[in-house]
Amino acid sequence: MAIIRVRNLEKSFGKLHVLRGIDLDVKEGEKLVIIGPSGSGKSTLLRCLNMLEVPTKGTIEFAGEVITDPQADLPRIRKDIGMVFQSFNLFPHKNVLENITMALVIVKKMEQAKAEELALSLLEKVGLSDKARNYPAQLSGGQQQRVAIARALAMQPKVMLFDEPTSALDPEMVGEVLEVMGALAREGMTMVVVTHEMKFAREIGDRVIFMDEGVIVEEGTPEQIFTEPRNPRTRSFLTRVM
Ligand code: ADP
Ligand code: MG
Repeated sequence: MAIIRVRNLEKSFGKLHVLRGIDLDVKEGEKLVIIGPSGSGKSTLLRCLNMLEVPTKGTIEFAGEVITDPQADLPRIRKDIGMVFQSFNLFPHKNVLENITMALVIVKKMEQAKAEELALSLLEKVGLSDKARNYPAQLSGGQQQRVAIARALAMQPKVMLFDEPTSALDPEMVGEVLEVMGALAREGMTMVVVTHEMKFAREIGDRVIFMDEGVIVEEGTPEQIFTEPRNPRTRSFLTRVM
């Protein structure tokens, strides 16, 4: 069953026509990888999926609900859609534990003690049990990104969206973040991941989409896309990045 269903999605910023008719289904449990050149609309697509950007045209269904409907209850729907950005976006004046518990207490109305218990179990999962009382600035980039993942997971989302989660990291920290994402994938989380990490895409991806200039140019299994891309634009992109 498709948990995300996108039909004829278009997004313009003024005269700039960024998404030009995207059709996309993401099945429950699926790991979808999105690749494509800078400026092709990958982030805009991801941001439309949780309505951080309001589409200009088209519809998006999430878990059977049309979220592009003006009447849609976006705050409720967004709780089910976790997002991790390239820049970790942690609250700098809150410690790690508070970064994770805040939304639980405020949005989910969870008791503080319960929120902390959940936060600590998630910190353990991302390998940061010992950093609960540290502030973001005291952590490495890789550690901050793992906190951001734990924070998103705390809301117990149905889907996780990752927008180039390792692009801002020093190379030696990429692995620890991909490891956490890989574990999440193996647990069965539905994931949409924009990434240039082709090896990771191969390992965890069920399907790869190549986007260029606001359209899906080609899609297939990682094997197909990486070893025998059919479209010349896909081929030329891959020779540049691989
Ligand atoms: P990608 O993630 O593939 O690099 P983006 O979705 O970030 O691409 O951007 C696609 C195009 O849309 C780019 O030309 C970018 O400058 C433009 N764009 C993205 N967000 C905005 C915005 N909020 N306002 C105006 N233009 C934007
Ligand atoms: Mg982007």
